[in-house]
Amino acid sequence: MNALLPTAIVGSLPKPSWLAEPEKLWSPWKLAGAELAEGKHDALSLAAEEQRLAGIDVIADGEQTRQHFVTTFIEHLNGVDFESRETVRIRNRYDADVPAVVGPVSRPKAVFVDDAQALRAQTTQPIKWALPGPMTMIDTLADRHYGSREKLARKFAKILNQEAKELEAAGVDIIQFDEPAFNVFFDDVRDWGVEVLDLAAEGLRAETVVHICYGYGIKANTDWKATLGSEWRQYEESFPLLQRSSVDTVSLECHNSHAPVELIGLLRGKKVMVGAIDVARTAIETPEEVAATLRKVLPFVDQDKLYPSTNCGMAPLSRHVARDKMAALASGAAIVRAELAGATSPPT
Ligand SMILES: [Zn+2]
Repeated sequence: MNALLPTAIVGSLPKPSWLAEPEKLWSPWKLAGAELAEGKHDALSLAAEEQRLAGIDVIADGEQTRQHFVTTFIEHLNGVDFESRETVRIRNRYDADVPAVVGPVSRPKAVFVDDAQALRAQTTQPIKWALPGPMTMIDTLADRHYGSREKLARKFAKILNQEAKELEAAGVDIIQFDEPAFNVFFDDVRDWGVEVLDLAAEGLRAETVVHICYGYGIKANTDWKATLGSEWRQYEESFPLLQRSSVDTVSLECHNSHAPVELIGLLRGKKVMVGAIDVARTAIETPEEVAATLRKVLPFVDQDKLYPSTNCGMAPLSRHVARDKMAALASGAAIVRAELAGATSPPT
C-alpha cells in the first residue's frame, strides 16, 4: 500500500465470459442457483487478484456479484416489484427497464455483507465498497408509492446507512456512494441531495466517498456529452456544496474530460479521487499520460489527499483492456509519486 497517491478503481470491472456476457450493462447471468453463487465469488476473487497484480492499492470487488450498480441493490428491498419492470428515462438521457416501488421500502436483510466478507478474506490491502447514492437510486426506478423524490431518497438514505454500517463491521475500509445524478439534477442537489447523502454516511467510521461522473462509456452517455459544449461546468454546482458535506472524498472524472481542472479547487480540504483513466475508449493510456493528468490537478488538491483513479466503472470494457488500464494507472501514479518524493527529500 502506497501512503502517497494510493490508487483505486471507481468500481466495476468486466465480468468473466463464463459468468455473464461481457461488454454489456444488465448482462444476464449465465449460471443459476448454487453454481451462480459460487461463480460470483470466484469472479470476485479474480477481480481482486487482477487489481493486486496491476499494482492497485485499494481493492474493490469489481461489482462481480451484481448485475447493475443500482438495480441489484434495489431488488433486494421490500416494497419493490422487480418482476413487472417499467421503462423510465434515466438521468434525462436513456430509457431502461427498472424495478418499481409499490409500497414502503425497507431492507429485510443485508444485501452485500457476504460478498464484502468474501473480498475481505482475499486481501490484507484496504478494501472499498460502492453503493448507489440515494438520488441515483430514485432516478433508476419507477415510484408508484411515495410520489416525492425527496421523501423516497430519505428512506433510501436510512437503508443505505444500515447497509454501510454492516459493511464497515465486515471490514470494509472505504464506503463509496455513486451519485452520477448529482451531475444532472442541480436543484435537487442544492435543496436536499447533499443533506440526504450526509444521512446515508452518518456515523460511519469508515472513510466515505461520493463518486460523481458523466457516466459509463456507453453510447447514450457519449451522445449526451457531445451536447454539453466545449467546457463542462456541472461540477461547479455540486463541488461547493460537497465541500461542506461530511463525506471525506469526492471521486470525479478528469482525463479526456471537458470539465475544467481548476474546479477541483472548489473541493479544497477534501480528499479527491481523480479519474486519470478514460473508460469511454479502449485505447490504453500510457503511464506518462496518467502522470500528466495527475500533475495537472496537483495545484488544486493537496498531494496527501490525491487518489489516482479511473473516470468511472469499467464494466462495459473488455477484460484485457481493463487490466491494461489498471496497470497504466498504477505505473502513472508511481511516476508522480517518485517526483513528489524527490521534491520533498532533503538535498544530499
Ligand atoms: Zn461513474
